[in-house]
Amino acid sequence: MTSLEQLLVVQDHDTTLDQLKHRRATLPEREVIARADAALRELEGPITETRGRHDLVARDVKRLEDEAGAAAAKAKEVDTAMYSGRTTSAKELQAMQADLEQIQRHQRALEDRELEFMEQQEAVDAELAVLDEQVGAAESAIATARVAIAEQEAAIDAELAAESAERARASADIPAPMLALYEKCRTQNRGAGVAKLVGHTCQGCRLTIPASEVDRIRHAGEDGPVSHCDNCGAILVPSR
Ligand SMILES: [Zn+2]
Repeated sequence: MTSLEQLLVVQDHDTTLDQLKHRRATLPEREVIARADAALRELEGPITETRGRHDLVARDVKRLEDEAGAAAAKAKEVDTAMYSGRTTSAKELQAMQADLEQIQRHQRALEDRELEFMEQQEAVDAELAVLDEQVGAAESAIATARVAIAEQEAAIDAELAAESAERARASADIPAPMLALYEKCRTQNRGAGVAKLVGHTCQGCRLTIPASEVDRIRHAGEDGPVSHCDNCGAILVPSR
């Protein structure tokens, strides 16, 4: 096998390595993670806003509960005083009774209001539960995708290592300047550093090479000058 033909083998390994790297970089699960991350970011605003409403309504519930509690204590106080026997004046007892009824009305009004706020709080809690569920779903999708990515990366990395070892063996006997030229062509041509010349066609880009040029390449021999495809720039290796 000539050095040029060996380059073709190296090229095959490099193409496989490129494909493996591309597959590793574009695993569909990476897109799943990107979408779930975006969903989580979009949920941040609504969650902050809903939590804010929840805190406000919870504060109202607490305030009304305290006020209703204070009214109940006050009512009990008046009630106790009425039945303590300390007062016997019918007029005074009547006034106390009126006072007690007024306090109890106020207490009931506070409790009704508290109930309304508790209903609001329940509605907000339900909204938060829906948002939390969406966060949970996104986080679980990310976790599942991460596991799948790790498994596939490990498998691809093993293939990459094996392919790299093969490539090292295939390139071991190629003279350094020729390998360097190949690398340079590969970088410039987005992956194709060397291509077979079959008949008049460059197998790298399928361009037809002029007959006189093909003739020149075929007669250059192994030690002759290296020829490049005018179109794709690959080093041309005439098939035998
Ligand atoms: Zn070409």
